[in-house]
Amino acid sequence: MANEPRNYDYVIIGGGPAGVYGALELGEHGKSVALINNALALGGAGVNTGTIPSKTLRETALALSGLRSRNLYGVDLSLHRDITVSDFLGHEQHVRGAFNNSIANRVEAKRIDVYAGAAAFTDPHTVELKPVADGPQETQVLRGENFLLATGSSPNRPDLFFSKKGEIYDSDTVLELDRIPKSMAVIGAGVIGSEYACIFAALGAKVHVVDGHDGLMPFLDAEIVKALTAAMEKNGITFHWKQKVTACEPIENDGARLTLSDEPPLSVDAVLVAAGRHSNIECLNLSAAGVTTDPKGTVVVDDAYRTNVPHIYAAGDIIGYPALASTSMAQGRLAVRHALGLADPALAPVLPTGIYTIPEISVAGESEASAQKKGIPIVVGLAKYSANARGQIIGDLDGFLKLVFRREDMQLIGVHVIGEQATEIVHIGLLGILTGIKAELLVDICFNTPTLSMCYKMAALDAIRHAGKS
Ligand SMILES: Cc1cc2nc3c(=O)[nH]c(=O)nc-3n(C[C@H](O)[C@H](O)[C@H](O)COP(=O)(O)OP(=O)(O)OC[C@H]3O[C@@H](n4cnc5c(N)ncnc54)[C@H](O)[C@@H]3O)c2cc1C
Repeated sequence: MANEPRNYDYVIIGGGPAGVYGALELGEHGKSVALINNALALGGAGVNTGTIPSKTLRETALALSGLRSRNLYGVDLSLHRDITVSDFLGHEQHVRGAFNNSIANRVEAKRIDVYAGAAAFTDPHTVELKPVADGPQETQVLRGENFLLATGSSPNRPDLFFSKKGEIYDSDTVLELDRIPKSMAVIGAGVIGSEYACIFAALGAKVHVVDGHDGLMPFLDAEIVKALTAAMEKNGITFHWKQKVTACEPIENDGARLTLSDEPPLSVDAVLVAAGRHSNIECLNLSAAGVTTDPKGTVVVDDAYRTNVPHIYAAGDIIGYPALASTSMAQGRLAVRHALGLADPALAPVLPTGIYTIPEISVAGESEASAQKKGIPIVVGLAKYSANARGQIIGDLDGFLKLVFRREDMQLIGVHVIGEQATEIVHIGLLGILTGIKAELLVDICFNTPTLSMCYKMAALDAIRHAGKS
């Protein structure tokens, strides 16, 4: 039987980045807040299965494999022992635990009531919480003046990969690995598939990437795609482009055999399915609240993250693109600030994208292709890490930074980096784009040396040279 309803100013459904940051902002303003999560640990995919674990595993894989430092001339840092799963997962578990605790402490400090349960609407102001494992076993009922839907997303699993036998994983379950597979097929060459392909290749697995398209992430700059493809191949990854998996059969006690549309079958120790994600709306019973979704199942919101029901907001993966932890946190906060009548809800007009492949990639703003599509005349400047002192010191000779300037006034409109620290140094360019920096100022700035940041000066000089020639 359900308990008596408890009343709150705000009820937040989902304890990932969007929900937690929304809750913390409301706590700051002294509102009564219920934060419901269908798992005991807060943090969602951001902390428990996605962002933090995958990046921690990447760091561990780089350290264990010696891959990061393999271009140090005369230095052999390669690994001379077998990597065990506890080497691989131990640090991840430690980092995840630290984040879970830190979030729980921050939420508690703001006097937010946390509920473990799976929420479903019974009317536009009421949710019923179904018990979840290790949580309270009675059904609880909460009433809210306002709601924030932040239930995130889950990996897609095409029917063909539903077999319980064989080693078939997705990004949620890959952390359950009990050994490092000797071979792995990654289905899907998007961001998550490419990141995990690089991690497992670094750990010594023979990785096959299978995808129906004919190349990696077409939204990236073409030269960056070429460099990433070459680096992944150099690290032993084999691509199977324009291939569909038509059957996936478990091999008795060991792996799976994949039938491909136009190539010989592949037998591998493990399969990682990275075939996109869908919004978690199934359990919410949104029809009882009157909230509408689009045909893809994402919740539709306006610029202020408000659904078609004025007191119900939504943020994070549940509303679709860009579906990043970085943007989800910002959206959760902006949504509740709008509900509080506090602020202009717009996200920054230019957002960075970080892709933690090996090597890592980061971009912000226009690419050559997108600028040309918009009819913006541009000048491009390039700086190779091999021509940069820090690049030589750390042994990353393949990385580069590319800057895109508007020809008219040499204002920076795009930054593209591949190589060590790409996801860090991109922020210099991002800041430059947002503040309208011009090539000349990038040349005049005195950068620390030796640094990879110095590539900004080199690329700006290169662009000025090109602009002078044409
Ligand atoms: C492998 C991987 C790598 C990634 N790497 C990056 C990266 O490098 N950088 C980056 O910015 N982003 C990255 N992301 C994306 C990022 O993790 C997500 O965009 C982010 O976690 C979304 O936050 P959210 O709050 O919307 O949802 P989530 O983090 O998914 O949290 C939603 C929470 O709601 C809970 N929930 C669901 N339904 C209910 C219900 N009915 N009742 C109660 N609770 C419910 C879920 O269990 C979960 O705890 C990655 C994702 C994956 C999978």
